[in-house]
Amino acid sequence: AQTYPDWIWHNGEIKPWRDATVHVMAHALHYGSSVFEGIRSYATPKGAAIFRLTDHLKRLFHSAKVYDIAMPYTLEQLAAACRAVVKKNGLDKAYLRPVAFRGLGGFGLSAETPTDVAVAAWAMGAYLGDGVLELGIDACVSSWQRFAPNTIPAGAKAGGNYLSGQLIAREARRLGFGEGIALASTGLLSEGAGENLFLVFDGALHTTPVASAILHGITRHSLMTLARDAGIPVVERDMPREYLYFADEVFMCGTAAEITPIRSVDGKPVGAGKAGPLTRRMQELFFGLFDGRTPDRHGWLEPLDA
Ligand code: PMP
Repeated sequence: AQTYPDWIWHNGEIKPWRDATVHVMAHALHYGSSVFEGIRSYATPKGAAIFRLTDHLKRLFHSAKVYDIAMPYTLEQLAAACRAVVKKNGLDKAYLRPVAFRGLGGFGLSAETPTDVAVAAWAMGAYLGDGVLELGIDACVSSWQRFAPNTIPAGAKAGGNYLSGQLIAREARRLGFGEGIALASTGLLSEGAGENLFLVFDGALHTTPVASAILHGITRHSLMTLARDAGIPVVERDMPREYLYFADEVFMCGTAAEITPIRSVDGKPVGAGKAGPLTRRMQELFFGLFDGRTPDRHGWLEPLDA
């Protein structure tokens, strides 16, 4: 069973976890009208740091703008809330979950409701299971497609989007796979249930473009930047499903999933059927940010004690 941390930030104060509750008639519970972030903090040689905190919170504000969810706090106030809740729970390596949602105040779809805001933080290991960062996972292509452009905006990280994510993830688990990969409405590759997708061909990284109904992942952007810094070619392009079977390597990335190698897709081995050399290299570059082996050239490590 899940154990919960002691403290949570809710509407401006830090409360005991059990007291951070909402009403059953909150708008978001019925209509998915929430926006949220997933952020990680890491213990680094220079002290605990929250990875790209400002960029995550910028995305939260962009997501809120799409749905006209009024934000009662500034980005700086939410950054302080994120730091405070990690510290109050005595954490350094943590997963942070800021969420803003339409609360109690109206039942119509276009109701103007007050916005509730919370930030939780807890210790979290590898999202897709123990040992998967080394061993990789077996993935499948989902029978569920991602939502099409201009239906539900994939670039906004809203609670309702994760109905799609749940269909993809639950189908994959039911069939015995570690994660599902969705195709876009075009039939071309999109992303995982909660992760962006990279394929490797001849030493170059290929990733699906933002037009293919993907979240504009911060890990994806970080890996593209780290690769370019290291002289590794990066190509953003549409790819058909069968490229999953042709690729030398495939991996998924996200804040929760970090860099998870994919060792097979639809029962067919990817490359040598284990984490490939460029996947390993990207893991070294990425995790190197947190143990000091990769210089933080872009100011991504935002100190917990700021
Ligand atoms: N796609 C989806 C659908 C996601 O939920 C996530 C996780 N937030 C990602 C991609 C990866 O995004 P990020 O690297 O910003 O966590």
